[in-house]
Amino acid sequence: MNKIDALSQIVTEVNDLTDSPLYSYRKENGYYPVPGEGDSEAGLLFIGEAPGKLEAETGRPFVGRAGKDLDALLEANGLERKEVFITNIVKDRPPGNRAPTKAEIKLYAPFLIRQIEIIQPKVIATLGRCSMEFMLTHFDLPEKHEKIGALHGQPLSAFLSYGNVILFPLYHPAAIFYNRKLEPELAADFTKLVSLL
Ligand code: URA
Repeated sequence: MNKIDALSQIVTEVNDLTDSPLYSYRKENGYYPVPGEGDSEAGLLFIGEAPGKLEAETGRPFVGRAGKDLDALLEANGLERKEVFITNIVKDRPPGNRAPTKAEIKLYAPFLIRQIEIIQPKVIATLGRCSMEFMLTHFDLPEKHEKIGALHGQPLSAFLSYGNVILFPLYHPAAIFYNRKLEPELAADFTKLVSLL
């Protein structure tokens, strides 16, 4: 199966995920699942936490306020959305704006792992603490107990079935709404990230 078909297969499976505790919430609200989007050959893959309201209304990742910041950071570094792949760990919107539960992460993570193995990016950039912690634990990296404040902007080496990959923790773009001091740090980390490609 080619990469595009393999990624479409994931879209179908996420669509049909009636076992998810988030499925009825999706249906009741007329929301869409948000499997992720971008270039199946991308060298850079971004992982957020879970879709927000606007994402669930459109079926597209990072299209709300945080997404506008992500777009601006990409653009400032000469990249377009269509050149990268953007996804989340959890592919349905959790009620309200609550963080996904451990059970939700466990249920949806295999889709993310498959997306990574299909796309085979050189660099995986996590957006925020949730996806950073998940990937550090998944790769069983020695840094797995460290905080985002210590790890952001640091390339970490991991080994996957298809070879070496760089894990690059970033602050979540939404974090800068609450703490403007993080804005220059996120911008500097982004420039460093793009230099790794
Ligand atoms: N925040 C996330 O973590 N993911 C999105 O898709 C949007 C906002």
